[in-house]
Amino acid sequence: MLKENLKKVEENISKACEKAGRKRDEVTLIAVSKTKPAEMIREIYDQGIRTFGENKVQEMMEKQEILPEDIQWHMIGHLQRNKVKYLIGHVALIHSVDSLRLAEEISRLSVKNQVTTDILIEVNIAHEETKFGISAEETLALVEEAAKLSNIRIKGLMTIAPYVEDPEENREYFRKIRQLSVDIKRKNIDNVSMDVLSMGMTGDYMVAIEEGSTMVRVGTGIFGARNYNL
Ligand SMILES: *Cc1c(COP(=O)(O)O)cnc(C)c1O
Repeated sequence: MLKENLKKVEENISKACEKAGRKRDEVTLIAVSKTKPAEMIREIYDQGIRTFGENKVQEMMEKQEILPEDIQWHMIGHLQRNKVKYLIGHVALIHSVDSLRLAEEISRLSVKNQVTTDILIEVNIAHEETKFGISAEETLALVEEAAKLSNIRIKGLMTIAPYVEDPEENREYFRKIRQLSVDIKRKNIDNVSMDVLSMGMTGDYMVAIEEGSTMVRVGTGIFGARNYNL
């Protein structure tokens, strides 16, 4: 069943790329495996997927220990500073940096461990009170400050769009964040590439791709609904 789910998602990604006149290899599919067991991840891995997203540090570490080493793990969930120490050196990209203090801790521990850590700045594009991320207005200032820190590279922006029935409703938010990333990229700040735009989830990844997403984070569409009451 997972195999068929993945096939469908891959087809949709290709369709959206085609519609937008983009190449399929401009978009990375992150299989969001939070709450799902290692066996299910293995099934998707066996279909060729190597990029997985988790939102809890502990869960990610446990899965890393028992799954193949060539998996690229992405931290997509809210990150507490006291958990950063477990991640450094074990994560391909941290999507959820939304404060200078967090960026400073990632930098400090990256220096200590002699690695460079790639990060995205999480933007709360729709100003939702229930969501993490900084406002669009504050993003440039945070990027400029974080860019001065050692051993981190700012690769781009991430956003979690509102939950909506009709994905078209999120198009304006995707456009906004895309524009914000273009504006920041134009400033040519050292250590800031702005090549990554992490946006689009199960409900809206096709629209996100049409609006320029380079990383879609799909959980339910691949692994099925999550059960948080286990
Ligand atoms: C859970 C999660 C996803 C995946 O959500 P689905 O709707 O299941 O595709 C994507 N991004 C983040 C940050 C998440 O926490």
